Amino acid sequence: MKSTHIVIIGGGYGGLRALESLAKHAHISITLIDKNPYHNLQTEVYDFIANKVEFSHIMIDLPSLCKSFASVQFICEEVVSIDPSRHHVLTPTHTITYDQLILSTGSRTYFPDFIKGLREHAHGVKSIPVALDFKQQFERALLERIEAQSSICNTEPFNIVIGGAGLSGVEIAAEMAAYANRFYQNGNFGCRGIDVYLIDAYESILYGMDPFLIQSAHERLVKLGVHVWHNNRISEVREKEILLDSGKILSYEFMIFTGGIAASTLTEHLGFPTNPKGHLEVNEHLNIPGYEDIYAIGDIAHTLNEEGKMLPPTAQLAERGAEHVARNIISSLNGKTKKPFHFKNQGVMIALGGEYGAGILPGGIKVKGYLAYLVKKAISLYYTAPLRRRSAIGKRR
Ligand SMILES: Cc1cc2nc3c(=O)[nH]c(=O)nc-3n(C[C@H](O)[C@H](O)[C@H](O)COP(=O)(O)OP(=O)(O)OC[C@H]3O[C@@H](n4cnc5c(N)ncnc54)[C@H](O)[C@@H]3O)c2cc1C
Repeated sequence: MKSTHIVIIGGGYGGLRALESLAKHAHISITLIDKNPYHNLQTEVYDFIANKVEFSHIMIDLPSLCKSFASVQFICEEVVSIDPSRHHVLTPTHTITYDQLILSTGSRTYFPDFIKGLREHAHGVKSIPVALDFKQQFERALLERIEAQSSICNTEPFNIVIGGAGLSGVEIAAEMAAYANRFYQNGNFGCRGIDVYLIDAYESILYGMDPFLIQSAHERLVKLGVHVWHNNRISEVREKEILLDSGKILSYEFMIFTGGIAASTLTEHLGFPTNPKGHLEVNEHLNIPGYEDIYAIGDIAHTLNEEGKMLPPTAQLAERGAEHVARNIISSLNGKTKKPFHFKNQGVMIALGGEYGAGILPGGIKVKGYLAYLVKKAISLYYTAPLRRRSAIGKRR
């Protein structure tokens, strides 16, 4: 049988699941290309920001991981373009030829232009360097505040604002508040001085999610002392203050924006059809329309549900898409027909600060509290443990 070379661009949740699913097949060789030498475990970043873990816990080493497979090579470079007519992927120093191509370069934080000053003043959390910057600046400011309060309590507000109360915004707000509470309790500092604000334009946090999750998360956030301002639209962000449509002004020390994502910038250079935020249009097989040998999965793709609506981009969707694409590639190599992709949500778990969570398990079972926290940790371990085992094998090679 003729050997097939598959190129995967992006070693995130989707790219790595595709790699694992395809590398076990004979007659397949794979090149994984990523601009970073690590897989960023974005779904765990709240633990890192809140100082529960250091950053090796939110990384998987890609060169070691790839070495653990006999037929996988890794290139650490940014892909700048592709040439589908020649089956070429282009990086600044390489031209790589593919038989089948999987695009899985994910997304970036979307800073809407209509919120003046947002891009200049708010942090995203989608990359490790940015999350690290935020964490270090935050800790430095915390220390300065403690030092400044040596004799009398400084009553100037020290506000952390999270704009966007979707899954990641809620998790970060809860974890930051739990962190601040723990910090002041551990140090027995007499002057308490941090407030966390979670601001969202919708009428509730986690808008569109199950009411059980909305209520559980809201109650927990309030208990942790988070100021939950839903129904509040941010109109402008200045160096130290936020203006809301209602006319309210809130001073802040740090702002994180989690209010939306756009597809990775690579899609701007491909010439394929996209939605307004750059997500690639895909057909029912997750192919780029008109290109039977090019697939797009995860956050980069505009993946539709049965009603023709875009599925919310999640790690879970990226992984299920990757498994499906791997099956379709194997089918097409064996002369069989490809199958359409149907996404079945297997539930959702939300970390809500400290050892607390809420979620819905397969079958609709609702859990909250410590049990939900344990389930979330177990899911995370189930995902990371095999990858860490593989990278340990690769490191020894
Ligand atoms: C704080 C936070 C919490 C979240 N929590 C959850 C959760 O609890 N559950 C859940 O299901 N989802 C969660 N998500 C969403 C989830 O992380 C994303 O949906 C998921 O990462 C998408 O996977 P992906 O493979 O499409 O992209 P990614 O995992 O982002 O991977 C993309 C990869 O492509 C690489 N890349 C990008 N451009 C290029 C280029 N031009 N050339 C080469 N390489 C490139 C990047 O370096 C990266 O490694 C969360 C996200 C955040 C930010």
